[in-house]
Amino acid sequence: MKKIFNMILLSSLLLIPTYKEVTLVENQNIKFIKDSRINSDKKIKNVILFIGDGMGPNHVDAGNIFKGSPLTFDKVDEKWSYHAYVNTDSLSSEAFKLDTSKSLIRPDLNQTLYKGSTNGITCYTDSAAAGSSLATGKKYTNSSISLDIEGNEVETTLEIAKKLNKKAGVISSDQITGATPSTFYAHCPTRNDYKEILEDCARSKADLVLCKNKSTFKNNKEYYENLYKENGFDKVIYNKKDLDSSSSRLLGLFDKITTKDNDYRVPSLKELTGFALDFLDNENGFFLMVEGAYIDKQSHAHQGGMMLDELMAFDNAISLCESWCQGRDDTLIIVTADHETGGLYFDSSKANKDNIDTQIKWLTGGHSRTRVDLSVYGDISSFIECYSSNFSTLEGLPYWDNTDVFKLCASYL
Ligand SMILES: [Zn+2]
Repeated sequence: MKKIFNMILLSSLLLIPTYKEVTLVENQNIKFIKDSRINSDKKIKNVILFIGDGMGPNHVDAGNIFKGSPLTFDKVDEKWSYHAYVNTDSLSSEAFKLDTSKSLIRPDLNQTLYKGSTNGITCYTDSAAAGSSLATGKKYTNSSISLDIEGNEVETTLEIAKKLNKKAGVISSDQITGATPSTFYAHCPTRNDYKEILEDCARSKADLVLCKNKSTFKNNKEYYENLYKENGFDKVIYNKKDLDSSSSRLLGLFDKITTKDNDYRVPSLKELTGFALDFLDNENGFFLMVEGAYIDKQSHAHQGGMMLDELMAFDNAISLCESWCQGRDDTLIIVTADHETGGLYFDSSKANKDNIDTQIKWLTGGHSRTRVDLSVYGDISSFIECYSSNFSTLEGLPYWDNTDVFKLCASYL
């Protein structure tokens, strides 16, 4: 403590930025922040993390062709200035030794490694392990929800944001018990512990949770509604028309999160994101995670056209965030994926805007080990300055680990 104080004193005398106070934070994975000057001027106060579940690099390419212009987050311009690749391996996939150099390139017709498993042994991550790494900066075995192999509950970006007196929210087109959203507010050994996930979410400090409701509470609606209310969620709603920004903490469960805006009954990801930005915006800043869950589900089902609709809905939500950021420099938008799903590929010489949905082919019904994309809106030069020596290079871009995405988020909270 004394040492840090001396450094602050010294740095203020020398008129260089002071060290960011992170003494409240117990997550050991951000220790390095204490020794850096990342966000020392606290210019950035809001961090928005978009996770396209199952969105591999070929999904993004197909989306660009389908849209007829680059997806919002795939643009390279002054604001979308940082792009990288991310390794998605979990402990389950790392334990299964594969030829890494072969498994990291984009799926193509000659690739066989995208089959996903050999002799029944999993060699790719699932959304639980990958989401937990994005949320906490540690590696996990598949199915774990932010609970490490020693059984420790590892603090998440959502929990860190709350400790720092920020607001925090989660939006997912999946259910509240879906693996990806769960990794931000729950801690349990398997993703199928629905009861524990529902209870952990109720006891989390999240200000806003908006998900799909597929009879989430089953026959225990009254028990769970009470549990959420006892824990400070002043409203539990099931209809779009009941979205109410005057409530202090809100749980919204909707029949469906649709891909089209302006449905009178059910919201789109973009509409929920717009509501969340208004709801969470405050002097201290906020953390928001938004998941496009059906990019993965439609890829498992090999439904190219519907996957593209989901990808466009995901991009529309990001585009809305980009517009919201116009004229302000206090917000980071980070877009990545937890893993690739389906081993999607297409022949780019034959694909065009009108036929891309019919050109898509699939190599697996499961996940692959393909690296995914990372795009950042906003100025992260201080993070890159401190941390870029940790990255190798792949196909001309920096190559991150998924645990680094947590470090980026936490650095700017
Ligand atoms: Zn999946």
